[in-house]
Amino acid sequence: MSGEILIHTCCAPCLCYPAKCLRKKNFELSVYWYNPNIHGWREYNKRRMALGFYLAKNGPADIIEGSYDFKEWMKKINSNKKKDRCRMCYRLRLKETAQKAAESGISAFTTTLLYSKYQYFDSVVEEGQKAACEAGVVFYAEDFRKGWKEGISLSKAENLYRQEYCGCVYSEYERYS
Ligand code: SF4
Repeated sequence: MSGEILIHTCCAPCLCYPAKCLRKKNFELSVYWYNPNIHGWREYNKRRMALGFYLAKNGPADIIEGSYDFKEWMKKINSNKKKDRCRMCYRLRLKETAQKAAESGISAFTTTLLYSKYQYFDSVVEEGQKAACEAGVVFYAEDFRKGWKEGISLSKAENLYRQEYCGCVYSEYERYS
């Protein structure tokens, strides 16, 4: 597989390794920023700025930007069980990404969520595949977790802001409580 691919990007540090892998495979990257899960407007902006900083140096120059509809996220993510909550969160973000790919004429999409060892890999793949079917595009699933350490080194070398928690208010509480 090669060609243009839309990569849903949760944050700049998690993009470093998947971007390297995808480019090695001759994919042309388009980056989609859609993360209404991130708790706190200032935190959201810090992560968005870090992504802008990374892309200014490494490309692609353009970023496709989703809205920060955190009220929608809070309405839809309504489980107290972490695993269920995360799955709903993946569903929301990956559905949006699949639709964005389809409407932009990009036939495949993937996500940096496949890089993080803190995410539920199988749930990400299942939700990605479902979203792809609904939108009529392809979900590219690669286990980027194999590059976990390399990705950390790359993001440190780029001097990127590295957040302490996944994103939502629950994850902030779980991290610090
Ligand atoms: S922990 Fe992360 S993936 Fe799970 S619901 Fe919160 S923001 Fe979403």
